[in-house]
Amino acid sequence: MKVHVVGGGLAGSEITYRLAKKGVHVILHEMRPKIQTPVHRTGYFAELVCSNSLKSEDITNGAGLLKAEMRSVGSLILEVAEEVRIPAGKALAVDRNEFARRITDRIKSMENVEIHVEEVKKIELGEDEIWIVATGPMTSQSLLNNLSKKIGRFLNFIDAVSPILYSDSIDLSKVFIADRYGVGKGDHLNCPLNEKEYDRLWKALIEAEVVEFKEFEKHKLFERCMPIEEIARSGKDAMRYGPLRPVGIVDPRTGKEPYAVVQLRRDNLEGTLYNIVGFQTRMKWREQKRIIRLIPGLENAEIARYGVMHVNVYLNSPKVLDRFLRLKKDDRIFFAGQITGVEGYLESAASGIYVATNI
Ligand SMILES: Cc1cc2nc3c(=O)[nH]c(=O)nc-3n(C[C@H](O)[C@H](O)[C@H](O)COP(=O)(O)OP(=O)(O)OC[C@H]3O[C@@H](n4cnc5c(N)ncnc54)[C@H](O)[C@@H]3O)c2cc1C
Repeated sequence: MKVHVVGGGLAGSEITYRLAKKGVHVILHEMRPKIQTPVHRTGYFAELVCSNSLKSEDITNGAGLLKAEMRSVGSLILEVAEEVRIPAGKALAVDRNEFARRITDRIKSMENVEIHVEEVKKIELGEDEIWIVATGPMTSQSLLNNLSKKIGRFLNFIDAVSPILYSDSIDLSKVFIADRYGVGKGDHLNCPLNEKEYDRLWKALIEAEVVEFKEFEKHKLFERCMPIEEIARSGKDAMRYGPLRPVGIVDPRTGKEPYAVVQLRRDNLEGTLYNIVGFQTRMKWREQKRIIRLIPGLENAEIARYGVMHVNVYLNSPKVLDRFLRLKKDDRIFFAGQITGVEGYLESAASGIYVATNI
């Protein structure tokens, strides 16, 4: 039996690794770096497109529990995450580049894995073959069109990415190191805002020029990844009770919680990059630069990667898939990862483990 895996993302990497380890011949089709998706930047497998966090390690919440379960069955993603872990309080954050590079190397070095760098435009089932589609929220249009003919319309929602800054452009005399409620080892940089600075930022955000992409207006924004300017528009204090909430973050210079805080989280092992926590946006690039520079400590910030926003597609899974995530119409075709309707790096990887276990 041959298994074709389409997409070397979080799910596709777990699947390929697990099946190849079991001795199955796997053909992994990944279109990058030949063709990039709108959010991926590298040719590596398992690229993290936005935050570098795989969420909480706390076993009393869903993400922590899921990690414990995945570790118990030998998750590649979590094994590598541990190797390239960077401090982030209770969360499991990684050096994104090193993470994806090591996963790619691990998969490429496996004996039973054949890698085809190509866009799969349609599924062509051969004798004694299984196909697993793990093409994620940015599935290429040709494949989407082809699959739609077979299984009907895809559903969708909107998601956004936060900007990443070069750390040497951050004014360290204005920011302070602290973790919320003191949990962590000083893993975050914090830009404190007083009321006047907060008001100025809020006004700039509600007036900011955004990318008007007509398609977006028809879609629903994903609540947990709401663009910062949309949060600002929902009310003056919304950011202070959302991503800019100061609760539990004490400025050691004043001994007090500031009026509001913009948190920066380390994005790589060397500490040369920081992402702005909860600052996903669809502002135009020049606006991002202008508005980020209104934040104390970021007056000269240089942006390594701008925030962007995209439509995510997924299947109406209960309608078209069975409980093993196989097509009801054709049990030789499986789906895994975010295309099945799960959301997040960790959750997509877990769904890859689930599918691989059932083959
Ligand atoms: C803008 C944005 C921000 C996000 N932010 C976060 C976040 O902060 N935290 C979080 O946990 N999750 C976040 N997510 C969700 C997360 O990225 C996904 O849940 C996860 O990557 C899905 O894993 P996957 O393996 O299903 O798909 P992906 O990781 O996207 O992998 C799919 C792979 O398939 C390839 N591919 C697509 N079409 C084809 C084709 N036709 N032929 C060959 N290859 C193809 C792609 O190149 C890609 O490598 C975000 C998603 C988006 C779009």
